[in-house]
Amino acid sequence: MPLRLMKYAWKKSEDEPRFFPEEKPLKKAYDVVIIGGGGHGMACAYYLAKEHGITNVAVLEQGYIGGGNTGRNTTIVRSNYLTSEGVKFYDESLKLFEDLSDDFDLNIFYSTRGHFTLAHTDSAMRTMRWRAEVNKHHGIDSEVVDVDTIKKEVPYMDMSCNGQHPVMGALYHAPGSVARHDAVAWGYARGAQMRGVEIHQKTRVTDIKTKGGKVVGVETDKGFVEAKKVISMVAGSTPRITEMLDIKTPIEIFPLQACVTEPVKPFMDTIVVSGSLHVYVSQSSRGELVMGASVDPAELHSTRSTLDFVEGLTDQMMDLFPFTSRLKIMRQWAGMSDITPDFAPIMGKTDVEGFYLDAGWGTWGFKATPVSGKTMAHTVATDSTHELIKPFSLDRYSKFELVGEKGAASVGH
Ligand SMILES: Cc1cc2nc3c(=O)[nH]c(=O)nc-3n(C[C@H](O)[C@H](O)[C@H](O)COP(=O)(O)OP(=O)(O)OC[C@H]3O[C@@H](n4cnc5c(N)ncnc54)[C@H](O)[C@@H]3O)c2cc1C
Repeated sequence: MPLRLMKYAWKKSEDEPRFFPEEKPLKKAYDVVIIGGGGHGMACAYYLAKEHGITNVAVLEQGYIGGGNTGRNTTIVRSNYLTSEGVKFYDESLKLFEDLSDDFDLNIFYSTRGHFTLAHTDSAMRTMRWRAEVNKHHGIDSEVVDVDTIKKEVPYMDMSCNGQHPVMGALYHAPGSVARHDAVAWGYARGAQMRGVEIHQKTRVTDIKTKGGKVVGVETDKGFVEAKKVISMVAGSTPRITEMLDIKTPIEIFPLQACVTEPVKPFMDTIVVSGSLHVYVSQSSRGELVMGASVDPAELHSTRSTLDFVEGLTDQMMDLFPFTSRLKIMRQWAGMSDITPDFAPIMGKTDVEGFYLDAGWGTWGFKATPVSGKTMAHTVATDSTHELIKPFSLDRYSKFELVGEKGAASVGH
């Protein structure tokens, strides 16, 4: 349990230092430059410093820490994926998540809720059994449960879904959790800074320079910075970075939207996802319903939110929870999801020496924040690809060795 709050609560004077120290001017050169100050960039900087002693590192962020998809997601953390590669990778992340509040001495509000993926058809039930078997094989706590079990845990849900798509059962994943997304980015950022890493907000990378096929630095809106190694961790902006080096990826960008209602009394501990209705919901510690759905139907580099989205989502929510017809939507927002054809990330080295890629996080990358930081830091520090991310290399597409992760998102994308 983080004791920081208690320590300052008992003091007569408030002498807690600034959370983030004043930013210094950019240096001329760094060993490593990380592009993107989201959760992944901060986690990578943290593990480079903490586990590999590499501290001459700059994280360059065009906006503010966690202002990209990290601060826009619906915070679901789980490891009940479908492929062995995915299950092992995300399970490692869950283990890291469990200790983060202590590691950071900052409460990330990690709250284990249990995660139901509802099945409304025979074929969905078959997929749930398949996922449960893969999960159990890897020691993951997942099982198929019947309607009575769901009813007991989520009593306010209309199991008939307005008589239209009755729930037949669900995949239940007890370790499914939520966590405060921005605290994860802040915790990693502060931990990295305390170890000597520099974070430069409002600093945009405009080009990447190479010499003889090797990275030599980045051009920014504050001038040129030399770097021996450059890591791109920019999620929805990945195509803009890879085109600087003429690297081709199959990533496409789709907006993903979410919204919250006004707060209501706690009535639901668990996370509920319906693949057939394309909605998911959890109740925040403040009582708001945090809701999301599928990605927008067309490729678009935009974070605008739409009326279409709330209309579709609330329609489906009312089938599951009829009383929500009386709730007000308080906020709505969007992020840019970097989707790959096999719903698995792209991680590791590239053909350009010294340039590393961490992308393809689509709608599922928050839960991967700790493990991606850790495995990318290992790969960059040792120049040998971490075992857990070997299946996610960019060249799998040219070798036709796709991962096929159908458990990446439980809704229709
Ligand atoms: C609505 C929504 C709901 C989601 N729900 C979930 C969920 O429940 N569970 C889950 O696991 N995942 C979820 N995700 C996905 C998850 O949010 C992302 O995959 C994850 O946050 C990616 O983290 P990141 O650090 O790689 O990217 P980001 O947090 O997007 O950070 C990238 C940063 O790079 C910066 N940047 C871009 N270009 C440049 C440049 N040229 N120079 C400098 N900086 C640059 C951006 O400003 C940004 O801050 C959701 C996403 C959205 C949009």
